[in-house]
Amino acid sequence: MEFTVQPLPASKRVALVAHDHRKQMLVDWCGRHRQLLQRHRLLATGTTGNWVEKATGLPVERLLSGPMGGDQQLGAKICQGEIDLLVFFWDPFEPMPHDPDVKALLRIAAVWNIPVACNATSADMMVSSPLMNEELERQVPDYQSYQSARGSESPL
Ligand code: PGA
Repeated sequence: MEFTVQPLPASKRVALVAHDHRKQMLVDWCGRHRQLLQRHRLLATGTTGNWVEKATGLPVERLLSGPMGGDQQLGAKICQGEIDLLVFFWDPFEPMPHDPDVKALLRIAAVWNIPVACNATSADMMVSSPLMNEELERQVPDYQSYQSARGSESPL
């Protein structure tokens, strides 16, 4: 696999997802970082976005609820370069009906090399970084060379 550089912007598009038993934790986390988060753009799966908006007053672009495809919508946005950071408080104690979608979202975040935090401590450290408010270089798969190695033209 060849890689190329695609920067993450200084003002980040932050995706938020929390499973039901983790939603209050995410709301509390957003409340603690409200000032910082208002300098960025928030997106979320449906119910998570609703909780965050109601509790903090921060505007959130809401997608479908996770089990109805919201995780997959976030994954598609990551592939399209429309999400710069993922805060995903998944529940380690409960099996989920949409477990394949959860795995797919985490996998695609790794493919496109965006910062991911799966618990409040990691998320605290991530947003405390000076890089949170700076442009940040990241390596991503070089899709054009990937496609030409497979003998086909890149549509991107
Ligand atoms: P929700 O989805 O925000 O609609 O609850 C989250 C999830 O379970 O993936």
